[in-house]
Amino acid sequence: MVPGDGLMTSPMPAVFFGHGNPMNAVLHNGYTDAWAALGRQIPRPKAILCVSAHWFVPETGVTVATAPRTVHDFGGFPAELYAVKYPAPGDPELARRVQSLLAPLPVKLDQSWGLDHGTWSVLRHVYPDADIPVVQLSIDERQPGSFHYEIGERLAPLREEGVLIGGSGNLVHNLRAYAWGRHIVEPYEWAVRFERQTREMIGAREHGPLVDYEQPGRDARLSIPTPDHYLPLLYVIAARQERDAVSFPAEGVDGGSISMLSVMIG
Ligand code: ZN
Repeated sequence: MVPGDGLMTSPMPAVFFGHGNPMNAVLHNGYTDAWAALGRQIPRPKAILCVSAHWFVPETGVTVATAPRTVHDFGGFPAELYAVKYPAPGDPELARRVQSLLAPLPVKLDQSWGLDHGTWSVLRHVYPDADIPVVQLSIDERQPGSFHYEIGERLAPLREEGVLIGGSGNLVHNLRAYAWGRHIVEPYEWAVRFERQTREMIGAREHGPLVDYEQPGRDARLSIPTPDHYLPLLYVIAARQERDAVSFPAEGVDGGSISMLSVMIG
């Protein structure tokens, strides 16, 4: 390949981020350090398409605004967190490209949502300058795992076009069991077990049971009491091609019941 001929030499990775507590947006800890390191390590994307656990609605939509607003979609946190802005530009052209890749599935060009904390609490660390265009894709809450996995497969060509496909959630996410900062707690056994099995399946490219996550006997009832934080993972692993390696740039269990595992494809 001749340098400067404009062709991509290698596809962009796809990354699932375990975002955890919204306060990570304004903290510096092992997780946020790992996110920042990843941003320095991978090639600079032309744009980011992010599937966040926090845009879980009864339709598939993409943000189309040229300047998406920073959505503070939580309650009861310190004022410092409400003051955070992530002023990354949007990318209407990418939004339309997503629409055409997913056709004939109806994809709404959405003007009402923006970037929610699933996206900005992580991207603030990965790309602190907020100078890379970001588009969010919603998760259709009515659909099963197979639907979300198939969308991920259909979006995979974007990696060849310089787009970073991001998923933001947590592969174990049980807020009822979560220790809200009161004290350091040991991870629950079921959380550790579910995370380990999931991690092994991702490594072995054994996607069937990950898509069909509600199968009995895998601690899924406790680890995934609601699917919003798990499903973004399916969009990321679905983008994996034969040649792609898998790595886990961040890991840990927060508050006993939130897996902070990040997964990088490619
Ligand atoms: Zn969340």
